[in-house]
Amino acid sequence: MALVVSPELGLRLSLRGVLAQAGFPVMLEAEDLAQALMVLAQEPVELVLTAWELEDASGGELVRRLRESLAERGFSPRSPVVVLDPGLEQQSVVQAVKSGAIGRLAVPADAAQLQGLLENMESPPPASRQDPGARDATQPEIILARPRGFCAGVERAIATVEKALEKYGPPVYVKHAIVHNRHVVERLEQAGAVFVEELAEIPAGSLVIFSAHGVSPQAHEEARARNLEVVDATCPLVTKVHLEARRFAAEKRTVFLIGHASHVEVIGTRGEAPESIRVIGNPTEAAGAEAPDPEKVAYLTQTTLSMDDSREIVGALQERFPALVGPAKSDICYATQNRQNAVRAIAGEVDLLLVVGSANSSNSNRLVEVARSRGVAAHLVDSAGQLREEWLQGANRIGVTAGASAPEDVVLNLVETLASRLGASIREIEVAEEDVHFALPPPFREREQ
Ligand code: SF4
Repeated sequence: MALVVSPELGLRLSLRGVLAQAGFPVMLEAEDLAQALMVLAQEPVELVLTAWELEDASGGELVRRLRESLAERGFSPRSPVVVLDPGLEQQSVVQAVKSGAIGRLAVPADAAQLQGLLENMESPPPASRQDPGARDATQPEIILARPRGFCAGVERAIATVEKALEKYGPPVYVKHAIVHNRHVVERLEQAGAVFVEELAEIPAGSLVIFSAHGVSPQAHEEARARNLEVVDATCPLVTKVHLEARRFAAEKRTVFLIGHASHVEVIGTRGEAPESIRVIGNPTEAAGAEAPDPEKVAYLTQTTLSMDDSREIVGALQERFPALVGPAKSDICYATQNRQNAVRAIAGEVDLLLVVGSANSSNSNRLVEVARSRGVAAHLVDSAGQLREEWLQGANRIGVTAGASAPEDVVLNLVETLASRLGASIREIEVAEEDVHFALPPPFREREQ
């Protein structure tokens, strides 16, 4: 017996055939929560399909109260709540699943989808969805790492392109991918942004935005020579490394820049003093590094490195050059550190970690490495479409996080896909609160305030 809760008569009627095909020949109806609770108190309902918004209740609270009512009567494994979805936002879907719903049913409904949701469902008591301490170890679980996804530098860079499009209209030229994420770049391209690798591709006199990764002083000179109007969306934390590079070079030091030589951020930083800066990619290179004056040496790092790797390389440099100096505060930015710490925090609890991010995203790749270095299988996925069935075999607890350039809606889509495929509950582990915000670059700064 199923109960459909919706104020829309047409919707309720349309579900009769779907429920009959899915093995629920008897369908009861309610227009709001009060009516639904009365039905649940009197009838042996096994399945509830509910709209997300009712006149007297909505959202996660609605789902919770329906689940509680089912549980009061002696929870049955076949007593799920499904949320009906006329365009439900992904954030709401995740909230629904967190509140105990087994998934969403797109409207117009499809019996096969409903059957799929029911087949995927296991039989956790409601408490196991809410209370990790009481969870059934066999119940699949998704553990979301927090912080994850967009950092302050990425938000600023994206907002800069959006403001430029708003103020000047398309096309707006951007040197290099504004941030290393395919979804972000494609969305901005659709809005009129044009991404180029060489300034020579941009018509003279146009506006150009420099990406969050930063550029060398030579790029600024070239832009001036081509009469381009520059808006610099370089992350302030990358700029900090540029300034340190200049300072150490001015002190006549050899500067070891720890990072990936082909990464655009490292290319930009190195451009500050190419004659003084040597890029070091691993401990072996550090152990063999040379400097004209071993007493005048310094190191800097790319902002998105693995903290573990960086520590090892700095250690090797210090062994070789006891006089080595470094930045007063780590160059590995707060966002990289927090996301890596969050992966460390959940690594002991999961069988598999999925990192949402694009293949060219340095900090996303480092999150995969951090998990693998702790013996956890980990994969980078650009979206839910890249999930592979074989990864999920035997993975009961799946961690999900995202690199600093991955949009939250893509993360939530992955979580929703996993939750409905595995009948998994969702838990979030937060290791740090982030409250960092960077002002937009000129000429948009004034408009923002
Ligand atoms: S990852 Fe760090 S350095 Fe890079 S844009 Fe974000 S805050 Fe800035």
